Amino acid sequence: MKYVPVLLITISLLFQHCGYSQSKPGPKPDSTNMKKDNNPVYSRSDSSKVALTEDEWKKILPAEVYYIARQKGTERPWTSKYETSKEIGTYYCAACGNPLFKSDTKFESGCGWPSFYEPISKTSVIYLEDRSHGMVRTEVECGRCKAHLGHVFDDGPPPTGLRYCINGVILDFEKAKKAEEGYKKAQ
Ligand SMILES: [Zn+2]
Repeated sequence: MKYVPVLLITISLLFQHCGYSQSKPGPKPDSTNMKKDNNPVYSRSDSSKVALTEDEWKKILPAEVYYIARQKGTERPWTSKYETSKEIGTYYCAACGNPLFKSDTKFESGCGWPSFYEPISKTSVIYLEDRSHGMVRTEVECGRCKAHLGHVFDDGPPPTGLRYCINGVILDFEKAKKAEEGYKKAQ
């Protein structure tokens, strides 16, 4: 029985190590949950605005999300699992949980990034003029936390004619459970 405390300490150290490794980039299916645990502002129901300092964001966001959200980075094209995904559900801001896009407004633009023709609501996103890289583009930010999401272009499909070109890294996806059940029955 003497060995039990040692074993417990070993196990807890192992868990601590796992928790740390989760914050590194990687396509692990449960990384979304870990991210929320470390992120006190993440909420899919609270629509109140979030204003943190860059240092605070750096502490709570995984490095790859921080790079896109706060440093206006761009993920490499063709790298997001969401780019060609046809799953039915909702896309949320990975920094704050704000609902951004629904899968039924998603389309395959061929541009290399997840593309949508319309946000969930007028307040889901905000727009800013972006004159970087010698171009004039319209930047799209999260309406709740001002995370950089991507850009919007006017070469999209009907009914809006818009193409929201969004970094997959800044999106959290949740499947629509009812729709999923309907799918399974139909098959
Ligand atoms: Zn956000």
